[in-house]
Amino acid sequence: MSERKRCVSIYPGSFDPVTRGHEDIVRRALSFSDCVIVAVAHTATQRKQGLFEVEERVEMLRHVFRDEARIVTTEFTGLLVDFARAQGASIIVRGLRAVSDFEYEFQMALMNRQLWHDVETIFLAPDVRHSYLSASLVREIASLGGDVADFVDPLVRDRLYEKLGRP
Ligand code: ADP
Repeated sequence: MSERKRCVSIYPGSFDPVTRGHEDIVRRALSFSDCVIVAVAHTATQRKQGLFEVEERVEMLRHVFRDEARIVTTEFTGLLVDFARAQGASIIVRGLRAVSDFEYEFQMALMNRQLWHDVETIFLAPDVRHSYLSASLVREIASLGGDVADFVDPLVRDRLYEKLGRP
């Protein structure tokens, strides 16, 4: 009898910081994965201004997913496909919010397949409540004095306010 291959998925991103939208995607990925590796990229492919250090992002992710042993958070440098292969993860998970995400995501999926033939990218749609959410928007709202309690875990909200010098 042949044994089923373990399904390890990898969810890469900047997670600066992790939002309810990211959480939603990870939990959906768990429904078809034995293990989901949440991988914080050291060098974001899209140049973004970072607010949190990578180590701080990893710590917040670990806190958010502390209840689920099948979710593992780590960081990586270099090519995603090289890291994924080394981890035994042949499924890349990405979230799609709107058509605006599509072009970049489609290009990355095809390029990653070119780099590693056996990798498959799976796109997941979040709950509609999170479909407008991005980490950059959360950072912006927090920096302008807005309440981000609905968009992030309480610990992440506290860290954001600390970082921005808010009471
Ligand atoms: P952000 O765009 O919020 O800074 P990342 O760059 O860390 O997030 O994105 C990692 C992945 O998560 C990408 O595939 C991105 O499209 C997806 N993602 C981010 N926010 C959401 C959301 N609210 N709903 C669905 N997918 C999301």
